[in-house]
Amino acid sequence: MERLTNPTYMQAVLNRYGFSFKKKFGQNFLTNDAILEEIVDAADITKDDFVVEIGPGIGTLTQVLSERAGKVLAVELDSKLIPILDDTLAFCKNVEIINQDILKVDLNQISKEKNEGRPFKVVANLPYYITTPILLNLLTNHVPAESITVMVQKEVADRMQAGPGSKDYGALSLAIQYYTEPEYICTVTPNNFIPQPKVDSAVIRLDRRTKPAVTGIDEDKLFDIIRSTFVQRRKTLLNSLSNATKLGVTKDEIRSAIAQLGWDENIRGEKLTLEQFAELTKVLFTQ
Ligand code: SAM
Repeated sequence: MERLTNPTYMQAVLNRYGFSFKKKFGQNFLTNDAILEEIVDAADITKDDFVVEIGPGIGTLTQVLSERAGKVLAVELDSKLIPILDDTLAFCKNVEIINQDILKVDLNQISKEKNEGRPFKVVANLPYYITTPILLNLLTNHVPAESITVMVQKEVADRMQAGPGSKDYGALSLAIQYYTEPEYICTVTPNNFIPQPKVDSAVIRLDRRTKPAVTGIDEDKLFDIIRSTFVQRRKTLLNSLSNATKLGVTKDEIRSAIAQLGWDENIRGEKLTLEQFAELTKVLFTQ
């Protein structure tokens, strides 16, 4: 089967269908076979796997997934790409394409209907404009995704695995690390895509934890505290949380919680670990 990464072949396919790239859908197609192989290697795909691919484009990554996986379900939003995919993936009998917005697909239902409710793997070169909603949706809706191996903007991959004190550390780092163990796979430069994005990209693998990194706390309250902290990251923890009316706690209650935990009253939230955010949540909301 002719690989779509061959630029002449890719261009011929695009011309045949009069396809033009849509920036609003984050369309940057991969043109490097070695990188496609590296993504699929990193995801550890075997014939036992059911893979969900988000945004197949014209099917470059889908072809490689089809060769390695048992079954591939590819979800593409752009209806103009569907006839192209029907053509380029005509010989890939284990691939099913759905023309839908991934944010509206019920993956729990899909897993029940098409994979007997068993866990699946997500592999994608994500549309960058909705990376965070896609990942948070996969993680917070408790869909049975055992691992998520994705291409994202490098800056976003850096934020996902950042720790306390780093400039990249924030609500995204804590959400990702609460639900998963992230592993940085590789950096990918703009010349590996058509059209070329303006920034470097990176492949990251997120392995879902069997249980969250901290347990026994109110998850909603934990993330309310985390989000309130990073809205004003340069402020002290005491001031940012006192300004967050949504939390419904007084400045005195926060001051006394910080004292009870033995922390400096001027500590900044950006220095706290996930475990410390969990301790603070317990002290503030279980008394
Ligand atoms: N997988 C292809 C590749 O690597 O060459 C294309 C990746 S491109 C970065 C992102 C793809 O996601 C595009 O095909 C785009 O149309 C699709 N897309 C954008 N928003 C989407 C959404 N909400 N749901 C599903 N697919 C989406």
